[in-house]
Amino acid sequence: MGMFDTFVGDVVCPYCGELHEFQEQTKGYDCLLSEFYMGDYIDKGNANYIYTFDWFCDKDNSKVFDVGIAIRKGQIVKFLVNEEIEELKNSPLEVLDNIEDGLGKRLLYEKVCKEANGQPREELKFELNPLPEGFKFVAFGVEWEVIKLYRQKKGFRGLAYYYEIKSKEHGLRIMESYEHTWYGDQISIITLEDAEKYKSVYFD
Ligand SMILES: [Zn+2]
Repeated sequence: MGMFDTFVGDVVCPYCGELHEFQEQTKGYDCLLSEFYMGDYIDKGNANYIYTFDWFCDKDNSKVFDVGIAIRKGQIVKFLVNEEIEELKNSPLEVLDNIEDGLGKRLLYEKVCKEANGQPREELKFELNPLPEGFKFVAFGVEWEVIKLYRQKKGFRGLAYYYEIKSKEHGLRIMESYEHTWYGDQISIITLEDAEKYKSVYFD
């Protein structure tokens, strides 16, 4: 009930020329709260078509334009704006090739890895907590070492542990280690600057 999926991507705004991110909810697919990025196979029907909707300039919401998502054999292969949609509509969609499966998600994850800020794909067994000083593990494809365990503020998210960690590549970070009911044992890593904002909540 009330479920949907969301298209996520960037288009060049025809008004200001800058890249704007769009997030367009759709009820046209499985409605499992999935996020659809460039390169994702979303249509089991293997079909070719253009999904269109209105988007707007970030700088002036009254400036509206058309966005088209070109689906080629069930895969998101191109984002289109205004007349590009009409042009492609008038040509067979076969002019488009399929692209790397999961391209958008890969690029997004590479950015997260580069900044070492967010949720790595690597997992860390929750039962290993509390981790001792000097404990080593891999996240975002690089090795990290536990510097110290933070005492957690009483009553705040009892199922997580917080650590100061460091890596050769990224320096100091804060890590949260927690148990996730659906996705297994996860960690998230944030920068010290981000952690500063929440310190009073996380740490005693
Ligand atoms: Zn704009």
